[in-house]
This record gives sequence, C-alpha cells and structure tokens, in this order.
Amino acid sequence: MSNEVEKVKCLIIGSGPAGYTAAIYAARADLNPVMYTGLVMGGQLTQTTEVDNFPGYPKGVQGVELMEDLRAQAERFGTDIRFGIISAVDFSKRPFTVTTDDNKVIQAETVIISTGATAKWLGIESEQRYNGHGVSACATCDGFFYRGMDVAVVGGGDTAAEEATYLSNLCKKVYLIVRRDELRASKAMQARVFNTPNIEVLWNHVTEEIVGDDKFVTGVRLKNVKTDEVKTIDVQGFFVAIGHHPNTELFVNQIDLDEQGYIKTVPGSTRTNIEGVFAAGDVQDEIYRQAITAAGTGCMAAIEAERWLASMKYGK
Ligand code: NDP
Repeated sequence: MSNEVEKVKCLIIGSGPAGYTAAIYAARADLNPVMYTGLVMGGQLTQTTEVDNFPGYPKGVQGVELMEDLRAQAERFGTDIRFGIISAVDFSKRPFTVTTDDNKVIQAETVIISTGATAKWLGIESEQRYNGHGVSACATCDGFFYRGMDVAVVGGGDTAAEEATYLSNLCKKVYLIVRRDELRASKAMQARVFNTPNIEVLWNHVTEEIVGDDKFVTGVRLKNVKTDEVKTIDVQGFFVAIGHHPNTELFVNQIDLDEQGYIKTVPGSTRTNIEGVFAAGDVQDEIYRQAITAAGTGCMAAIEAERWLASMKYGK
C-alpha cells in the first residue's frame, strides 16, 4: 500500500481494442500513457475464438492473439501497461484524481475511458461450456462459421432482430426464441423479421439447456412457458442477444451517462461532458460494438486528448 501521488498526462482505463489503439496514438504523441488493464486484460475479444473481420488479418486471427498484437504495439511505443483495476475516480476538478484497487493515487491531466461493455448471458451452465463452440454473443463476428446451417437466436430486442436477419442471409434456418408473445424491437426491425421466410419465431419459449456432443452445440432444449411443453430443436449455432451492459459503474455521478448507462459523447467525437475526459469503444457505443469501431474511436480519443492538452498549454 502506498500513499504517494503519481502524476500522468494521459491515463487509459481498459485494455480492449479502444484502449490499446488510444495507447498507440497517445504514446506516439509523447503523452507517456499509463494504462490500467482491468480484470480481463484484452477485453471481450479474449473470450472469443476466431476473428475474421478485423482488417489486416487476411487469414483471420484468434481473439487472444489479436489482443496480444495490439498490446505489443502499444508497448513498443512506451505505453506503461499495468495489470490492475481503478476503484474510484474524481472528475470534479483537474487534474483528475484516480485511485487504484491497491490504494495508489494518480493525478491525470487527461483520462481516456475504454472499459467496454459486457454481453448479458442467460446464466445456464451449458452456455459457458459451449461458448466459442457453438455459443456466441455476436452474430456479426461469428455468423460466418454457420453458413448453410441451422441456428437459434435468443432475445426479442433490436439486437436479436438484427442478428436474426443478418444470420438469415448466411444460414439455412434461423429460430428466434422469444420469452414473451411480442418483440421489444422497433416496428421496422420486427417487419424485417416477419418478412424473412427462413426466420421462425418461437413465441413464449425459454431456453432450458444447450445440448451438444461435448465438443459442439447440436441443439437447444426449449420450454413453452404457456403450455409447459418441452422440445429440442436441432441447431449448430446459438446466439445470445439479450442485451449488453456498459462497464460504467465506476463513473456513476462523475460523468454524464445515458439512461442505459452508456457514457454520453459529443456526436462525432469522444468528448464527454467533462473537459479532458474522453470515452472510446463499447462503453459509449450501443450500436456498432465492433473491435474495429472501438479501435477507431480509441484513435480519436488519443488525438482529442493530445489536442486538448495542447490547447490548455498554448490556448485554443
Ligand atoms: P434490449 O434490452 O432492448 O432487449 C433485450 C431483449 O432480450 C428483450 O426482448 C428481452 O425480453 C430479452 N431478454 C432479456 N433477458 C432475457 C432472458 N434471460 N431470456 C430471454 N430473453 C431475454 O437489448 P438490445 O441489445 O436488443 O438493444 C439495446 C439497445 O440498443 C436498444 O435501445 C436498441 O434499440 C438499441 N439497438 C439499436 C440497433 C439499431 O438501431 N440498429 C441495433 C441494436 C440495438 P423482454 O422483452 O421480455 O424483456
């Protein structure tokens, strides 16, 4: 435990594609960035298998390997990467005060928040057992592997409707498992679902178990909550699309969040309502949620931090 106060120009919280890209740009701009990785070093992509849609990897890349490459690139330019957690922030005055979970106090001139979001899961054991082996929380990332196969999507919101429609172009058949007798998705998205012949909506159904051969998913056992009837459908892919929650608990009452908890940024930028604090990646993006869009906003955040520091020094 140490009470010494460390001063940094640019503190990056979170180590997904947004954080590492911000670090690469901030380090190359001589901001001497310090990154706190959070518990899951490398973020959501370390929980997935093959990544085929990140530009620059024509043969695809494992999520873990991609994040190791990004980390190595950030380190190459001198980013100080620390495995640790930020436990408190005070954005009420500058420099901003940030406390780590081992009670180290840091004063930061700028902060880039890239703490990401976490997919919500159903919470059944088989879901984690087959994660990456038939179970996924991202159709855009993994749908390609299920071309010509039968798959199921669980959820009734815009994400589920969008993922089901996306998968309908790749897969033979898509079941949309909905726990009520209506969709929460917007009318436009609902119309797309209803007008797609190879999507079948299974109303009033909940998932009891994902079944498989111990290696891959082979089906899903469902229960009709109205009739108690239990049946198993044969699918090779199971997509969970019941929402995400942004990792912003740390920032409640410190920064403006929207009603779902995402950090509000000025459109077309990564600026937040606190001058000198920037947000990049899924923590401020409920729409795209892609590694490449996160990396793009990470780049924007570093450039904006650098320009903001320059404007503080030399005037706007
Ligand atoms: P939502 O919270 O809107 O919807 C979640 C859905 O999952 C609901 O239908 C909910 O059912 C269902 N659900 C939740 N928990 C379970 C469970 N345990 N078992 C079965 N079903 C469950 O999340 P989304 O990710 O769909 O959307 C989040 C936000 O992002 C929304 O504002 C949405 O409009 C927006 N968005 C916009 C897009 C676009 O504009 N293109 C694309 C994607 C998202 P129930 O209805 O019964 O609660």
